[in-house]
Amino acid sequence: MTHSNQELAARAQKVLFQNYRTQPIALLRGEGSFVWDADGKKYLDCIGGIATVSLGHANKKLIAAAQAQLEQIWHASNLYYTEPQIRLAEHLTQRSFADRVFFCNSGAEANEGMIKLARHFHVVNGQPERVEILCMENSFHGRTMGALAATGQPKYQQGFGPLPGGFKFIKFGDVDALRANVGPHTCAVMLEPVQGEAGVLMPPKEFLPLVRELTTKYGALMLLDEVQGGMGRTGKLWCHEWFGVTPDVMSLAKGIAGGMPLGAILAKDHIAKVLTPGTHASTFGGNPIATAVACAVMEQLDDALLSQIQARGEQLSKGLAGLQQKNPKIAGERGMGLWRGLLLNEDLAGKAVGKARDLGLLVNGIGERILRIAPPLTIGAAEIDQCVEILGKALAE
Ligand SMILES: *Cc1c(COP(=O)(O)O)cnc(C)c1O
Repeated sequence: MTHSNQELAARAQKVLFQNYRTQPIALLRGEGSFVWDADGKKYLDCIGGIATVSLGHANKKLIAAAQAQLEQIWHASNLYYTEPQIRLAEHLTQRSFADRVFFCNSGAEANEGMIKLARHFHVVNGQPERVEILCMENSFHGRTMGALAATGQPKYQQGFGPLPGGFKFIKFGDVDALRANVGPHTCAVMLEPVQGEAGVLMPPKEFLPLVRELTTKYGALMLLDEVQGGMGRTGKLWCHEWFGVTPDVMSLAKGIAGGMPLGAILAKDHIAKVLTPGTHASTFGGNPIATAVACAVMEQLDDALLSQIQARGEQLSKGLAGLQQKNPKIAGERGMGLWRGLLLNEDLAGKAVGKARDLGLLVNGIGERILRIAPPLTIGAAEIDQCVEILGKALAE
């Protein structure tokens, strides 16, 4: 290979929008939980394409599924049926609360559609005035205008107005605010069961059950954004299973197709049916290659893998807690399954990410005080130990 990291970074900086804080390495190849950069350096990948490469790099079964489909037909649009899309919807509905699925290409797009679905549901049911969507502070739903309007982080919204209206925010986990703000005027309550971009922040146990109770009582919809927490990330297929609730609608993306771009909206039949022909669409949505790969992801995400994820998650949690005891710069750790935040006492996240990278570990910083760890769900016990060891070294300095 003639391209070095430095060369590729220099070319990128000339021609790409400069909207990312890209790390100064280019990844050329991956295998399992490891990736190699353009200079040949090997890394343990504990961010996995931001929780997308859910079953590891170059997973043989996913490659086989993609290749087989590639040689058949790689796109048709939704003017015609394609078999992998139907098969994936069968998998998803058999293993969730939902009756029907709409496919799109990303998390933001899935949330965009989920918002449209909720608004249209009340229009079709004779209450067009019911537009208010109650959202959470510190949430993250994506960068398109509707998803951004639902995102409770002013820093992402500023400078892009006017945003669509009708979104109201309460503190995530605040049961009193929830009680005070859900009523007969509420269109929907929209939230992540656990907030990923807020640094894997969990609500108090009673919060999601109360969202369920109040939305049901007032005829509003409960919309769950499982873009990051779904697809086995927490050691159950859906994050909401931990809280003993089922939503009316949920959005998926990130890990659904093992790193291929795919998003989905899952809903109960009486809600899904309001989107009649012409009301919503996506040209690439349900692309045969992405959905064929996602079927292979669903087949591999069986009970054995889900309990392995829980075991590896506990191992990781214990390891991180152990680091905390030795290092006063570490404030704590939190999360579920293979989805953890390491909390720092000082503004060190950027530096720690760089130091870990030099030591051969990829993790990601959220703000300056949280490190996010979201490895492939297939990560092994020895690799978890390696991750903890390198983080310990990176934060020791
Ligand atoms: C990443 C993410 C999104 C946005 O997904 P994109 O594919 O980047 O549009 C939305 N919601 C949550 C919870 C996410 O983590």
